[in-house]
Amino acid sequence: MDRRTDYLVVGGGMAADAAARGIRDVDPDGTILIVGADEDPPVRRPALSKDLWTDDDTTPTDVLLGTADATGATLLTGTEVTGLDPDAHQATTASGTIAYRVALLATGGRPRVLDDVPPGDRVVYFRTLADYRRLRRLAQRGSHVVVVGGGYIGSEVTAALAQNGVDVTMVFPEDAPGGGRFVPEIADQVSRRYADAGVDLRQGRTVTSTMSDDDEVTVTLDDGTTLTATAVVVGLGVTPDTSLAEAAGIALCDDGGVLVDEHLRTSAPDVLAAGDVASFVDPRLGRRRVEHEDNATTMGEAAGRVMAGEDVAYQHTPFFYSDLFDLGYEAVGRLDPTLETVVDHPTDDGTVVYHLDDGRVVGVLLWNVWDSVDAARDLVARPDPPDDLTGLIPKGDA
Ligand SMILES: Cc1cc2nc3c(=O)[nH]c(=O)nc-3n(C[C@H](O)[C@H](O)[C@H](O)COP(=O)(O)OP(=O)(O)OC[C@H]3O[C@@H](n4cnc5c(N)ncnc54)[C@H](O)[C@@H]3O)c2cc1C
Repeated sequence: MDRRTDYLVVGGGMAADAAARGIRDVDPDGTILIVGADEDPPVRRPALSKDLWTDDDTTPTDVLLGTADATGATLLTGTEVTGLDPDAHQATTASGTIAYRVALLATGGRPRVLDDVPPGDRVVYFRTLADYRRLRRLAQRGSHVVVVGGGYIGSEVTAALAQNGVDVTMVFPEDAPGGGRFVPEIADQVSRRYADAGVDLRQGRTVTSTMSDDDEVTVTLDDGTTLTATAVVVGLGVTPDTSLAEAAGIALCDDGGVLVDEHLRTSAPDVLAAGDVASFVDPRLGRRRVEHEDNATTMGEAAGRVMAGEDVAYQHTPFFYSDLFDLGYEAVGRLDPTLETVVDHPTDDGTVVYHLDDGRVVGVLLWNVWDSVDAARDLVARPDPPDDLTGLIPKGDA
């Protein structure tokens, strides 16, 4: 069936939801069509590895963002946009064409897949609500799950499963959970917390292959060890999903994302991009692409406003956060312990870690320190940071 819409949003994730809200704030009447490949409508993705496991009162329905009700948008779920012709203002799906006035690419990222670890019934590359449902069914109390990867997803899913009585083996190449983001003082604390929770940590190891049958999956590590498990969860990061943009001849950036200007416009007429897929100009840190909720929602909303004709620029330095058992953090910028680093931890309340590049603070980790994101943001990229950074951001609730 061929369709016509004022606003076409390609995606169906958090940036898509925020964009529809941004459009509706500016234009009460325009038609909005969201086309998303996921089988579910937009969800609050961070809850998939947190609240849904740690808060008994949170159900899958609670994590739906309620996009259609809030904005009046029409949602096509389980539908991929397979082609985009910016000059003709037309998109293509398996069921027909969509004529639009202005379009947004909010296609996010696709999980990185290991060659010899094919996705399957028991091998979950964890990203969607459907992945959550599948893992919930497989990961019963007392079952054994192998988690591959120590970054964001691997660390959170491991903690979530362990808190639900699942035996977890976590395999990752770094020395500690956290994907190499943490200075040794914090990395040690994290490793201890995981070990105390009974997690079998296989640090310094990678998975070379998996073999599934009807009942279990056998995992082989690079040292030849084999493990059997009910399920394997893989979290190795994502690559921006630029296939549609590339095929449409839209310019990409060296970092792999879709290049956007400060109004989130791509190189093609009337096509914008936002969220994980977009390479944007951060006013403090320069051009970058990140995979954070705050970025997806703030940028998505700005893009929606621009689509509807408002003259707004996206000038935001996003923050990000994670919860690992009873530990947690908020952060701004680059967490890179290979940079010059100042660790401020005179008290047990929390730790603030500053990363510097060329004399400027480029990243701040607020470890168990809350409500200080704005203070961290103010410091990032200040041309004249104080010589002594210790004590600058207060510990405990500010
Ligand atoms: C489990 C999990 C936990 C997270 N926890 C945190 C956290 O604690 N803190 C934090 O800051 N961030 C967190 N994040 C990251 C954050 O959720 C993402 O940055 C954000 O959701 C990105 O939103 P997006 O809309 O840009 O992309 P996505 O949410 O990836 O949505 C993109 C959508 O586009 C669809 N799509 C792609 N191509 C097409 C096409 N051609 N046609 C139709 N649809 C298409 C995809 O199917 C997908 O549904 C987490 C992410 C996950 C997966």
